[in-house]
Amino acid sequence: MVDTHAHLNFRDFDKDRNQIIKECRENGIFAINVGSDYESSKKAVEIAEKENGFYAAVGLHPSNIETKLIKQPDHDFLEKFFDSAKYETLAKSPKVKAIGETGIDLWRRPKSKEKRILFEKEQESFFLPQLELAKKLNLPLIIHCRIAFEEMFKVLAGAGVTGTAHCFTGTWEQAQKFLDMGFYLGFTGIIFKMDLIEVIKKCPMDRMLLETDCPYLSPPDFGEQRNTPLSLPVIAAKIASIKNLTAEEIISRSSENAQKLFKLDF
Ligand SMILES: [Zn+2]
Repeated sequence: MVDTHAHLNFRDFDKDRNQIIKECRENGIFAINVGSDYESSKKAVEIAEKENGFYAAVGLHPSNIETKLIKQPDHDFLEKFFDSAKYETLAKSPKVKAIGETGIDLWRRPKSKEKRILFEKEQESFFLPQLELAKKLNLPLIIHCRIAFEEMFKVLAGAGVTGTAHCFTGTWEQAQKFLDMGFYLGFTGIIFKMDLIEVIKKCPMDRMLLETDCPYLSPPDFGEQRNTPLSLPVIAAKIASIKNLTAEEIISRSSENAQKLFKLDF
């Protein structure tokens, strides 16, 4: 089975990354490690080049954009602009299977309307070149979309790209818009906390992906604070119970979907 959105490339796994990868292998779990800035994208590629069955996505997350419009936490990895050439060089590796995570995040945004418009424009100015890069390299996009569905659909309409709506948390109407554009829906452990029953019930079997977003979003039934790709079967079981199917069916269909969308070679 494939965790289509993991961050084993993050510092949270510096101490025991090899051990976790070994345990994933023992449990038949492969993963796409997703970059959220240049350094973590580079690390994802390094891991992918070394480990069979592990792949990478490279991109700049909307929270890692340097902005003067909101107060930002002290990050050492904020980027002033999206350096497409640098990311393109990383994407030369055949183990890079997507551009992302990228998108629009309006969760923390300025209070005044004027600044809000500027903030949205700024987010788009980082997202659009990543969308162009995906098109140029014929790679799918891994989309992060938080409280920004309308803005996202405006950008994606007619853009001629596809990919996945990672950690989908919208309504069924919003899900349908992604599906109509050829996108897949990624489900994480957030399904234990948010009411996504209608979306999960109605999501076609050939458009559903499993993901953990580890180290975040640990499912309550997993029993560990720091999430890992090893929680994937817990998420599959929850989806199976909602869809009235077996976990095996969910796992096998979502793995086929992952192989098809990301052109995974195993
Ligand atoms: Zn993520």
